Amino acid sequence: MNILIANDDGVFAPGIQALAQALRPLGRVVVVAPESERSGFSSALTLDRPLRPVQIVPDMWAVNGTPADCVYLSMNGLFDFEFDLVVSGINSGANLGDDVLYSGTVGAAFEGRLMKQPAIAVSLAGPNVRAYESPEHYAAAAQWVHGFIAKGLPVLPARHILNINIPDVPALQGEKITYQGRRSQSKPITSHVDPRGRQVYWIGLSGEAVAEPKKGATAIESDFFAVANGFVSITPIQMDATNYGILNNLHAQFSKKA
Ligand SMILES: [Mg+2]
Repeated sequence: MNILIANDDGVFAPGIQALAQALRPLGRVVVVAPESERSGFSSALTLDRPLRPVQIVPDMWAVNGTPADCVYLSMNGLFDFEFDLVVSGINSGANLGDDVLYSGTVGAAFEGRLMKQPAIAVSLAGPNVRAYESPEHYAAAAQWVHGFIAKGLPVLPARHILNINIPDVPALQGEKITYQGRRSQSKPITSHVDPRGRQVYWIGLSGEAVAEPKKGATAIESDFFAVANGFVSITPIQMDATNYGILNNLHAQFSKKA
């Protein structure tokens, strides 16, 4: 099996290194990742300048582009072989609820799925930001990913991926299949005056989880709930953001007018 690993935290991030190390027993692992952090880049592609992949060591490349660029290049000519699986992460920080819209980790996984290969996005969800800088916090999560892939990934339809969040806890409680939850409004931006007297603004933290009821026939919990209770959260997500209920209603309304 040839596994492509990308991320949005950059090629030297501890999460991607731990992941590569854990997955090597499963096959050839190739890391292609941004040369520096590109969190929040979603599925952005770089179209206004050329991309220059640099090989750091065998099977590890840094790219002066976005997470999706890395996957796009890797699956469209950078290599003379095909990949069987794309794994994005392990992100430093959760990608829960509305985070999915902004996440470069998720964007890289979607890019892989668009290229017809199974893809998963993996994030470490912990309360302590400093822990995200420590390699040891990723080891257990990376081992979990290894086990999950080794068991055989569930087969998803085209344009679907799994968004996985692993809580940064001493002992995982297990795993839960979850739905994508919601966040409340983001925290206010902070504003400062720069050393030259100009006003600058810094986008702040995302909002807290919104408490929601269980959903579906078997009362499924949200991704937030799973992680808050020590479970790995596994959410199937899709590129098609159409709301088919509203689509049908609107279509009926507009058809009448016509
Ligand atoms: Mg990130």
